[in-house]
Amino acid sequence: MGIPATKAKNIIDLESIRKDFPILQTMVHGQPLIYFDNAATSQKPEEVLKAIREYYTETNSNVHRGIHYLSNKATTQFEEARKTIAAHLNAAPEEIVFTRGTTEAINLVASCYGEAFVKKGDEIIVSAMEHHSNIVPWQMLCERRKAVLKVIPINREGELKMEEYKKMLSPKTRLVAVTHVSNTLGTINPAEEIIALAHDKDIPVLLDGAQAAPHLSIDVKKLDADFYCFSGHKTYAPTGIGILYGKKEWLTQLPPYQGGGEMIKEVTFEKTTYNESPLRFEAGTPNIEASIVLAQAINYINKIGLENIAAHEHELLVYATGKLQEIKGLQIIGTAKNKGSLISFAVDGIHPTDIGMLLDQQGIAVRTGHHCTQPLMNFYRIPGTVRASFAFYNTFGEIDFFVKALNKAIGMLK
Ligand code: PLP
Repeated sequence: MGIPATKAKNIIDLESIRKDFPILQTMVHGQPLIYFDNAATSQKPEEVLKAIREYYTETNSNVHRGIHYLSNKATTQFEEARKTIAAHLNAAPEEIVFTRGTTEAINLVASCYGEAFVKKGDEIIVSAMEHHSNIVPWQMLCERRKAVLKVIPINREGELKMEEYKKMLSPKTRLVAVTHVSNTLGTINPAEEIIALAHDKDIPVLLDGAQAAPHLSIDVKKLDADFYCFSGHKTYAPTGIGILYGKKEWLTQLPPYQGGGEMIKEVTFEKTTYNESPLRFEAGTPNIEASIVLAQAINYINKIGLENIAAHEHELLVYATGKLQEIKGLQIIGTAKNKGSLISFAVDGIHPTDIGMLLDQQGIAVRTGHHCTQPLMNFYRIPGTVRASFAFYNTFGEIDFFVKALNKAIGMLK
């Protein structure tokens, strides 16, 4: 496959970084844990764990409503977190909406944008490699509105067929929603080109950044994305928090998502007026702790540097790809030229779950199954894959052990 190897070595101080993640010391069935399930969720560094404790021991209070010391402190930290996340994405703070995760962010756009702009006969474009989270909300919208869901096809390597995509953009297209990085294939999609082509026809684009944000530096202005979302838990922060970036010009045009506290200006039984964005989209008490901690997680990865993270993870990808290609009967699913740090594979005649179970016995955590991309499994005519997904705390030694353990598992199952 065509992944260019980089020359850089020892890009990050692995020994010291691994010490930041206490869970990496876990023993599993008598073996040191090898955590290769980072695309499902990442592990959390000590700074994040400390920030969670600090929040509950020094700050805990509700935001935006109180006049007392703790409430002001929580509100300041919460809004500071929004600013940190905005700066990280090169956005303005009012363009950052806190959600429960990527799934909720996409549902929010499908619901609010759908309500305002999608009518009978309109078209929404997704791609063949989407996570169910970026398919089902659009399907539900299309059912409600009698709109049509269109799917950009992919080639066998797992790359979007861009010529087909160009042809699909039409005056009926209301929105394009595609993943920035595929959680199953690893493909890094040409986001800027996808957006530029849609914008030529005045069509807005949502990028699902769940698998991009932990690994790549994201500049929403440079991308010119209309909506961008990601999940905190895949980005070294806790579960239950996510980000929706929306261009100001869009967020100001969208109706509220849910009704409740925070999202209102004034309520009477006759009529309610709504808050400005982003609070208009944040009904109810938000996940204050996780919002603040997400900003800490972002500070942590910025200290290491996303460029260094991407470079090390690319080395891991190239190294593991080379090793896996040597295994007879193993087929890598997803061989795009531009790939993130995960490898899905199938082994002739062996069910992925069996491999996953035998790897677990040797201390290795991988994911098996359809990875919430059932249409993609249908495309490749396979029941599922084994997926090894790497983070910057993973090592070449872990890959060596993994390959040995995999060979052993295959030997036992053949
Ligand atoms: N989109 C992609 C590409 C994903 O990989 C995932 C999770 O695996 C999601 C969306 C959903 O993220 P969450 O479950 O954190 O909302």
